Amino acid sequence: MTTRTRQDEGDRAGDPADVPHHATRVLLAPEGIGEAAAALRAGRLVAFPTETVYGLGARADLAAAVRAIFAAKGRPPGNPLIVHVADVAAARALAAEWPLEAERLASAFWPGPLTLVVRRRGDAIADEVTAGGPTVAVRVPAHPVALALLRAAGVPVAAPSANRSNTLSPVTAAHVLKSLGGRIECVLDGGATSRGIESTIVDVTRSPAVLLRHGALPLADVEALVPLVDGGGAVTGPGGRALAPGSQERHYAPRARVVLAPAGAAEAIAEARRAAGERVGTLARGDDAEGGAPHAGAAGLRIALPDDAPAYAARLYAALHYLDDAACDAIVVEAVPDDPAWAAVRDRLRRASA
Ligand code: AMP
Ligand code: MG
Repeated sequence: MTTRTRQDEGDRAGDPADVPHHATRVLLAPEGIGEAAAALRAGRLVAFPTETVYGLGARADLAAAVRAIFAAKGRPPGNPLIVHVADVAAARALAAEWPLEAERLASAFWPGPLTLVVRRRGDAIADEVTAGGPTVAVRVPAHPVALALLRAAGVPVAAPSANRSNTLSPVTAAHVLKSLGGRIECVLDGGATSRGIESTIVDVTRSPAVLLRHGALPLADVEALVPLVDGGGAVTGPGGRALAPGSQERHYAPRARVVLAPAGAAEAIAEARRAAGERVGTLARGDDAEGGAPHAGAAGLRIALPDDAPAYAARLYAALHYLDDAACDAIVVEAVPDDPAWAAVRDRLRRASA
């Protein structure tokens, strides 16, 4: 079953035949951090945990290493990468300008799930990282393993999510292996991630700053410190160039079809699909007798996620991975509240179902 899933994802990502085969090694953190850092320094690809999702890291200052990320993921070259560094000083070293908004947000939320887009300094990183653009996305992750790895490596590390392009992001080392096993040198296993969805991205090259992607840091926290325009992930700049390249509609998607159900309709929709012969999984909301564990419900597999946005987000991808691995044809998702606190979850569900 695992093999079939991997094959399906490969097909969807357009599997380039030119990725060398690697027997992907699993290094356990914290013991494996030194070895993982040495591999990074040598220009190899290392998947590692952050508090958001697992990242696929490579030295941001080596063009060949960065190109290997795009090849392993099957990622279009026009989709730039987030650079991970150990502290604010290392982030500033990559920037040509460090506006007041960057200073405020970085000192309030780093280490943490906030990515800042700033003007890039000419020679600090390979052009491939920024897709040739004049800006760079940077963040200091709040995960002890990620921070120890970045400190030991001593170089800026470009790291998109450690999965094949357009598929579901990984929140465990096993998810990384399912998607990239055989295509990367190693994965540093630091257990399940705590936040469970990607970082919030804010472009501070413009005033007011622009939200490019909803994410694990709530919008209200950012807005409390700097005025912000909601780019909705679909903003375009001069000449129609996407300001958040790669924010295309279908993204963060499992193999199964994701069906968003209006409030109160999830069970009926799931039952109708089951009756039509589909293998159905349901993502419900709120407490259930199973304490949120996957179980057989009336209309197929069922998982209940917490009725609190950050806790729901923390478990969303793991639940989607589970239902995908269980070979569901359809995943019916019960509606989530139309409330700003749920914006990041709504965004990911919408993209998964596009
Ligand atoms: P991922 O790491 O796969 O979650 O994707 C990172 C995302 O960050 C990209 O898809 C872009 O939307 C965004 N990003 C990275 N670098 C830049 C940049 N220089 N300007 C604007 N957005 C960026
Ligand atoms: Mg990604």
